Amino acid sequence: MEINNGAVLANEEGMKGKKSWGCKANERIIGCDSTIRGTVSMLTSHLNPHDPRPKVPFSQGDPSPFPSFRASPVVEDAIVEALRSAKFNSYSPNCGVLNARRAVAEYLSRDLPIKLSPDQVLLTAGASQAIAFIISVLATPGANILLPQPGYLFYNTRATFSNLECRSYDLLPEQGWEVDINTVKGLADKNTVAMVIINPGNPCGNVYSYHHLKKVAETAEELGILVIADEVYGHIAFGDKPFVPMGVFGSIVPIITIGSLSKRWVVPGWRLGWIATIDPNGILLESKIMESLKVAGSSVIAAPLASHHNIFNLDKAASETNCFGFQGAVPQILERTNGEFFERILNMLRQTSDILVDKLREIDCITCPHKPQGAMFTMVKLNVSLLEDMKDDMEFSIKLAKEESVLVLPGSSMGIKNWLRIMFAIEPDLLKDGLERIKSFCQRHAKLN
Ligand SMILES: *Cc1c(COP(=O)(O)O)cnc(C)c1O
Repeated sequence: MEINNGAVLANEEGMKGKKSWGCKANERIIGCDSTIRGTVSMLTSHLNPHDPRPKVPFSQGDPSPFPSFRASPVVEDAIVEALRSAKFNSYSPNCGVLNARRAVAEYLSRDLPIKLSPDQVLLTAGASQAIAFIISVLATPGANILLPQPGYLFYNTRATFSNLECRSYDLLPEQGWEVDINTVKGLADKNTVAMVIINPGNPCGNVYSYHHLKKVAETAEELGILVIADEVYGHIAFGDKPFVPMGVFGSIVPIITIGSLSKRWVVPGWRLGWIATIDPNGILLESKIMESLKVAGSSVIAAPLASHHNIFNLDKAASETNCFGFQGAVPQILERTNGEFFERILNMLRQTSDILVDKLREIDCITCPHKPQGAMFTMVKLNVSLLEDMKDDMEFSIKLAKEESVLVLPGSSMGIKNWLRIMFAIEPDLLKDGLERIKSFCQRHAKLN
């Protein structure tokens, strides 16, 4: 028997007389612990427990606890029905239940010039798992991927897990947070495999026009890279621009679309998402990307019921499990949710985004360069030079939590310093209260001149 002489690092002194063990954590994974959730829990630890006022969570991306954003009874009933039927108690097939994949294909095809087949759809445990699969499939040695800045950090985290290099391209605040095509062209090289585009956008609240998306598609085609279209907020567009799915340009460049029930149906806890490939020219087929995605999908043993291995906390490195019981309800959810429910949510977001932008005008040190038109967030610029003793957005956010019980996400945690992300899918009264508190906080800390 060979004695393990170990990879555990310790100094020689400490090792004396001790057995050495061969176990060691993958340091790349430990290095990924800089998620939004990490920042939010740090801010939460600064809340004053003696403040009788309610906490205002502008930092989260989950409106489901608020009565105005309660999920439709139609989808709740569909789940109950699927579970009661006992038809979905078995292991799930690898890529998801056929009826559910067909329903997703039909749902997406409503807005596309081509009709998707169920074979082009893979069901996942939320869009997060879709991202994890796509990144692991694209992570060949030396490859890199282009990500929006500011963007959605989960892509960076997964890329680090998979040893895929990330390169950030800029979004332009003064142009409705459009993609800076020139930085995209400057960053891409022969090892670039894909670019990610988030539309409607988190964290910027952007909704891109047909014209802009076409330009993005043409740029990607020119560079020979595929487009990953994160459309988790698909159809959540309440401004003057309609939502245009990237898949419309599938004949220009291959598209991998990511979606889920989490945001549009306001059920993020259900963990139901999908990957769809829109590839009329067969490029993803030829490069075996679709095939590999299916292998990634089948590498996860589907769980019989909704089980939440929270990838951020308990089970960081492991994939999430599928939710088979919930898949059984997908056809009903996609077919039966009525327009009235979606209209109600869009009206709420229109109303709350109006309140937000109006109120921010009264606060000198905060400017909103672009009124949000979609999703549920906006990025605002913080001018710390107008404030006394305020170093940066991080200090601002910590003091605001401490003094006003208001949580906002500092841009530094997303790589852009002295910006703040504000989530506005909140009960209107609480939203107004929270903004009023930010206003008085800023007045109290304003420099006197
Ligand atoms: C919330 C979100 C996701 C993850 O969605 P889930 O379905 O909850 O996993 C992915 N991308 C963006 C941009 C998001 O905001």
